[in-house]
Amino acid sequence: LVRLRQRLAGSQSGLGRGLLALLSRDRLDEDTWEDIEDLLLTADIGVAPTQQLVERLRTRLRVEGGEAAPVRAVLREELINLVDPSMDRRLSITGADGKPGVVLVVGVNGAGKTTTVGKISRILVAQEKSVVLGAADTFRAAAVDQLATWGERVGVPVIRGAENGDPASVAFEAAKAAVDGGYDVVLVDTAGRLQNKAGLMDELGKVKRVIEKQAPVTEVLLVLDATTGQNGMIQARVFSEVVDVTGIVLTKLDGSAKGGIVVAVQKELGVPVKLVGLGEGPDDLAPFEPEAFVDALLG
Ligand code: GDP
Repeated sequence: LVRLRQRLAGSQSGLGRGLLALLSRDRLDEDTWEDIEDLLLTADIGVAPTQQLVERLRTRLRVEGGEAAPVRAVLREELINLVDPSMDRRLSITGADGKPGVVLVVGVNGAGKTTTVGKISRILVAQEKSVVLGAADTFRAAAVDQLATWGERVGVPVIRGAENGDPASVAFEAAKAAVDGGYDVVLVDTAGRLQNKAGLMDELGKVKRVIEKQAPVTEVLLVLDATTGQNGMIQARVFSEVVDVTGIVLTKLDGSAKGGIVVAVQKELGVPVKLVGLGEGPDDLAPFEPEAFVDALLG
């Protein structure tokens, strides 16, 4: 929590502080509520969740109002509700029938997929799980090299194919290596070319199909760059129409003033944010915990 707070400091903790300041005004008049709405929209929370939150705050602070209104406690509760603490945020990494768990990692180039695969492998290895990585982003030699570096650093094998080779064949080989070698988990990094929806659907569909000749995919993680705002939301929608996304990883929250995207993307896709990226370093990936997140926001 301390680290989360530090990482958010100066960025989106401005949202929490701003809200607290506005809600603590002597009179909560219409202008103030408008300022609150503006602040929420600027933080990328999205229109519907903003209205929902403002409505709840208006009701609760009116009823419980007056000087003694426990503004901070009410705001904290309502923000936590907004990110839905009831969602199951654990990664599905346990395969059935002695098969490995299979995690497919998707998202546009630059979102942080390869870095996230590396960071997750590190966490799993620390939990004493055996891991194989599949470098199926064959269109970018740099991505394959980058994953190979992570593999060396973490001490896990990386299955890679020929440059510009078929991503599906690398994915297949990675899954096969995991099944044959009795590994616990295989993480497959995919290409993020968002050329068009049909192309993406073909490519990811094929990757998933060939993997499932070996073992069922247990988790499809969509990696989204938190700094991309509405553009990121459009990408999220396209990916969720192409594959059944089961979890979201929100990267670069350390550099974003827009933590509200957590709320927006969950509402939009109906899928939980499971992990958040808080920097470029190997340890800068954390489980998303609604209460800790809101506490960090409120400072
Ligand atoms: P990919 O193309 O989706 O595989 O993206 P990469 O994993 O190559 O990441 C793109 C850039 O974003 C790299 O410079 C990463 O170091 C950086 N990056 C990834 N995750 C985070 C994060 O959580 N915070 C910050 N600040 N940078 C990140």
